[in-house]
Amino acid sequence: MQTVTNEFQDAAGKSSFIRKMFEKGLELKQKYGADAVCDFSLGNPDVPPPAAARAALYKIADDAVQPLGLGYCPNAGIPAVRARMADYLSRQQGLALTANDLVMTVGAASALVCFFRATIAEGDEVIVPSPYFVEYGNYCGHFGGVLRPVPTREDFTLDLDAIAAAVSPRTRAILVNSPNNPTGTVYSRAELEALAALVEKVNAARGEKGERPLFILSDEPYRAFAYDGADVPAILPMTKFAVVVGSFSKTLSLAGERIGYLAVNPALTQLDGGTLMSTLILVNRTLGSVNAPVIGQKLAAALCDSTVDLAIYKRRRDLMAKVLTDAGISFTMPRGAFYFFPKAPGGDDAKFVDALLKERILAVPGAGFGRAGHIRLSCSVDEKIIARSAEGFKRAAEACR
Ligand code: PLP
Repeated sequence: MQTVTNEFQDAAGKSSFIRKMFEKGLELKQKYGADAVCDFSLGNPDVPPPAAARAALYKIADDAVQPLGLGYCPNAGIPAVRARMADYLSRQQGLALTANDLVMTVGAASALVCFFRATIAEGDEVIVPSPYFVEYGNYCGHFGGVLRPVPTREDFTLDLDAIAAAVSPRTRAILVNSPNNPTGTVYSRAELEALAALVEKVNAARGEKGERPLFILSDEPYRAFAYDGADVPAILPMTKFAVVVGSFSKTLSLAGERIGYLAVNPALTQLDGGTLMSTLILVNRTLGSVNAPVIGQKLAAALCDSTVDLAIYKRRRDLMAKVLTDAGISFTMPRGAFYFFPKAPGGDDAKFVDALLKERILAVPGAGFGRAGHIRLSCSVDEKIIARSAEGFKRAAEACR
């Protein structure tokens, strides 16, 4: 009996590499005890939210026990929260936004899904520099969109010529994610400006023919995670065709509370008479979210100007870099986010991941992110675990050479 569509019947059992490693990790932890396993597979932020979250939650609790305290709210978000986010995003992006230029969403994930629902028609293409976050293909695929990965250069910077060459009449968006999951790369201002110029050029030609525009969609849940003074340039002012999505999953460790946002360049709202924005609000409702979680909205509004203790992530990054260097594993030093994307010694990522498993170290093969020959490590674990993994990395690397 087939209970689901052909698409999902075929996909059944093909759960993501990350999930598989997560399940493998649970099995190992049950067998040997949680302390015996070094789990670098999932990006679930483990650093506690800022201390101010406690008082904010008590205040929210007091307000919540009123009639409609936790009731439905406007589909775009609580008006006071949207106004606060407009102020926050105006400062972050260096461009004056009003509450009407943004919608509160169920994390960055739902913001991306809403954007694709509003803009993608069957067969439309979304260009993404690869390696890339594995879920993107699923998000646009729900609406018949096709992901077009364009490899970055060896050091994970953008190959702008290759991106320009990949743009076709079906290309609807160029999706960038900086700081990047899985590589930790932060794209430079020059790279993003060149991308914005490309989008303007394409749209000038499309506009003359009355065709649908090309967007830059910037996925920024790791915006606050930048090290060594790295600048994370704001893309929203670079072109009126820019759309930014983000969340508080990582910056405030609110991943399970599911709170994010989508903001559009105000000039775009003027250009299309607000159609994109009102459609985004509509699909936020009709895709089933109705509105972003009320507790999460209020928490985000109270805490958005703070972050978790980023020094913890910086120390972990430096320690992981030492562990990999000592094991003779080559990698590009991440300048943002909390991931490493090192080369698999011997070149076979699946083999190296298996060798690491024997050492009770969990990693994800790079093939799942669109670049084989590498592995992804998530540093959302305690420094003690990173330190403990050192000998295992050495032995596994040796076994694969
Ligand atoms: N985009 C990237 C690059 C991510 O790594 C993640 C989560 O790991 C998301 C989007 C979704 O994040 P959320 O929906 O929790 O904001």
